[in-house]
Amino acid sequence: MTAPTLNTTRSQELFSAAQALMPGGVSSPVRAFRSVGGQPIVFDRVKGPYAWDVDGNKYIDYIGSWGPAICGHAHPEVISALQEAIEKGTSFGAPCALENTLAEMVIDAVPSVEMVRFVNSGTEACMAVLRLMRAFTGRDKVIKFEGCYHGHADMFLVKAGSGVATLGLPDSPGVPRSTTANTLTAPYNDLEAVKQLFAENPDAISGVILEPIVGNAGFIQPEPGFLEGLRELTKEHGALLVFDEVMTGFRISYGGAQAHFGVTPDLTTMGKVIGGGLPVGAYGGRRDIMEMVAPAGPMYQAGTLSGNPLAMTAGIKTLELLRQPGSYEKLTATTEKLIAGIKEAASTAGIPITGASVSAMFGFFLCEGPVRNFEEAKATDAERFGKLHRAMLQRGVYLAPSAFEAGFTSLAHSDGDVEATLQAFRESFAEIA
Ligand SMILES: *Cc1c(COP(=O)(O)O)cnc(C)c1O
Repeated sequence: MTAPTLNTTRSQELFSAAQALMPGGVSSPVRAFRSVGGQPIVFDRVKGPYAWDVDGNKYIDYIGSWGPAICGHAHPEVISALQEAIEKGTSFGAPCALENTLAEMVIDAVPSVEMVRFVNSGTEACMAVLRLMRAFTGRDKVIKFEGCYHGHADMFLVKAGSGVATLGLPDSPGVPRSTTANTLTAPYNDLEAVKQLFAENPDAISGVILEPIVGNAGFIQPEPGFLEGLRELTKEHGALLVFDEVMTGFRISYGGAQAHFGVTPDLTTMGKVIGGGLPVGAYGGRRDIMEMVAPAGPMYQAGTLSGNPLAMTAGIKTLELLRQPGSYEKLTATTEKLIAGIKEAASTAGIPITGASVSAMFGFFLCEGPVRNFEEAKATDAERFGKLHRAMLQRGVYLAPSAFEAGFTSLAHSDGDVEATLQAFRESFAEIA
């Protein structure tokens, strides 16, 4: 079997030029394809489940701009709402009615959210929520989990390796030790480790933040009882429980992972889907906590472009499309068919695989499994994944360029798209076996 060869001359020219202009040639690191090898593809346009590169090649896209494109890229209703909104200006820097509309939709949808503050990215939302956790409890420490990503703010960039984990060693130069000294880490799905941290740090922990389904260490689900256990532990110790639903919000269900699992945190961060492809983040939760935020309360947090009319419009339209009956049933059916086919294709080729999906989010590791935390995720054959990634790209399927990222489907992915994708997987697994 010979792999088709794609002409990517223009992509290569542009990426070479970009490397002299921007660090690594990109505006965000994973886009550079470093962990899978090969050259990144430079996109020209996106529509529905597809992306086209600057050489005119077409791909079935399972990244969806890393989550926002859950209705499909450039949905006609989102685009026409934006065209109408743009006539009224791009930014007000003043209250706008659209903020009320999106706030009401979020409060109605997400069980924990009684009040919400809009920001411009998931990073910003997580940064602010940590300040709020500390302001509300008067405690400085926070527990996060190995492999969970909460944006690039200093306090969350803590190396999650065993041994150094609880020492709070910074993960990046430029992050002072003093900033991360208050960040404690535990392995995901390990309630005992969290209990121990609470016991070792009495009355010092403001709360626990986590991805209720992990998408940033590959796709890892909480084991039964884990989220419930965290809910009880935080209550018991006067600490807050925070779900970082930047990825899972409006993707796992219309009410996020918290509605899916029936566990309600005190605070929630959101991003990605909520902006429908424009820059939006949000944090929200219990009214008594949110009323700490300025100008209602003393905790300062602000933003020049926050709540801007274009971003609110894209978010509102995207949520309107998602809340139509049958959306999540369709997303679930598409994703289940995809992951079942991927696993079957790997097994047929004799390649170890473990994988799963919930609603419009899926992932697999090239190892026997099970994978319950980041340490176990590292058993995946990353080199083989790199080969798989390149083989799939050659066949017109655009997967996340890392063995440690989740995959995303959209309402625009048809049965035919999934079939074509699975054919590409069958050929690719055979090629790399
Ligand atoms: C993407 C992501 C973030 C960061 O959001 P940005 O908009 O990239 O700043 C934070 N938390 C989780 C769980 C994410 O997936």
